[in-house]
Amino acid sequence: MRYDGGIDMNTACLKSSNGWRERIVGLDRKAPLLDGRLVPYINLDNAATTPPLWDVLEAILRFLPYYSSSHRGSGFKSRISTAAYDEAHEIIGRFVGADMDSNTVIFGKNTTEAINKLAFRYPMRLDSVVLSTMMEHHSNDLPWRRRAKVVRAKVTSEGRLDEDDVGRLLAQYGDRVALLTVSGASNVTGFVQPIHRLARKAHAVGARILVDAAQLAPHRRIDVKTDDDPEHIDFVALSAHKMYAPFGAGALVGPRGIFLQGAPEYQGGGTVELVTLGYVRWAELPDREEAGSPNVVGAIAMAMAAQAMMDAGMESLERYETALTAYALDRLRSLPEITIYGEADPRRIQERVGVISFNLGSAHHALVAAILGYEGGIGTRNGCFCAQPYVAGLLRDAETETAQWRRDPLAGDKSGKPGMVRISFGAYNNYDDVDALIEMLRRITRNEYRGQYYPIPESGEYKPVGYRDSMAEHFSLSGCTFQSGVPERRA
Ligand code: PMP
Repeated sequence: MRYDGGIDMNTACLKSSNGWRERIVGLDRKAPLLDGRLVPYINLDNAATTPPLWDVLEAILRFLPYYSSSHRGSGFKSRISTAAYDEAHEIIGRFVGADMDSNTVIFGKNTTEAINKLAFRYPMRLDSVVLSTMMEHHSNDLPWRRRAKVVRAKVTSEGRLDEDDVGRLLAQYGDRVALLTVSGASNVTGFVQPIHRLARKAHAVGARILVDAAQLAPHRRIDVKTDDDPEHIDFVALSAHKMYAPFGAGALVGPRGIFLQGAPEYQGGGTVELVTLGYVRWAELPDREEAGSPNVVGAIAMAMAAQAMMDAGMESLERYETALTAYALDRLRSLPEITIYGEADPRRIQERVGVISFNLGSAHHALVAAILGYEGGIGTRNGCFCAQPYVAGLLRDAETETAQWRRDPLAGDKSGKPGMVRISFGAYNNYDDVDALIEMLRRITRNEYRGQYYPIPESGEYKPVGYRDSMAEHFSLSGCTFQSGVPERRA
């Protein structure tokens, strides 16, 4: 049996190199193409999930021999697990610049869970309003609908937040606005929100602000600022799997006071200090908000990734990604018949992170994504990216068409669903990745792709005729043995 996969455990936590690319797991893995060739897989779907960092994998491998119960045991390994889990909270607090005397970090599964937790917990009056925007991910919209009247600030025709409309709605609803909730960066157009300016405006009417940082955290430094700063960000929601750390963790950061009011939504082991048959005293934070046995490995992975990003310097990752995104925009704009949604001018690159959505002439978005995957080995995403109202607006989708998309999927046919193709970068993607994408898109515009593709109504995807999927030759759970070990680190 081999657990270390050839990793030198003594140097396991040391950084491999200064380059981010060398720190990514799996870049040596190949993808089979329609013509039978095997090519290096190009992942341009980082907005969905980033690949892991070696730093994370190594830290976990180093930790696992000590893995044990946290907060529940007095043994040596339990003490180590508890200390590591506690430290993970501190590191995530530092990652967003939170004052940990007055704020708490609550680990959960992901951003969706973090926002749902806050939506459960957040104090509202009967007439409270949650002010949101037209560009939100469903995870930052649906949880609020259950709690309050949600009003949404408009976006411009390019998809940029209309800040004047935020001001107008704040003036209109005044102290009824309990919370302003915005995505730090859009998962469709990559637009970065002026979160500190918005915080100042929200605070001026007595509201707080939540930043859904799922797309911001991997790309920009987040500094919530001191609690007394009018531009302070009150709550931040994060997903580890978008920050180079798998293992299923996410976090909500916010003022302790909010979570000390009332009872937690999940109750049970770990959340209490004292229980009698008629009485419960809730535990201290964050325990009372992290019901059941926590995901210690996930939290450590997330903290390790955050630490690696801080060590590399968020500004340096941002500079690199910005240059890459400007290059990609420039090259994409040269393609005939392309529609890029959002801001396509590379001179205004600071307004966005490396998330770019587009359509290619009248080609169906799912067809373009399928050709990129099956003939270019390029992973992208297509569809509405869990932001249907925003995407419908960008596509200038008339109400009637929207009604059509509602009807067709209900009838079990998703093939006509409108959408876009999205590429999204991590700080490890490079110019070659962009060039390979452009080359494939050129072939698509010239109809020079090889396969014949057919739509699958149930999923809305396209598949090539006659293709035999060989996934199991690359990985299958049943084919997993200890002999296969973990991937060798790139030299
Ligand atoms: N908000 C935004 C802006 C996102 O991009 C995503 C993920 N696509 C989420 C929230 C939800 O993240 P998760 O699936 O990790 O909960």
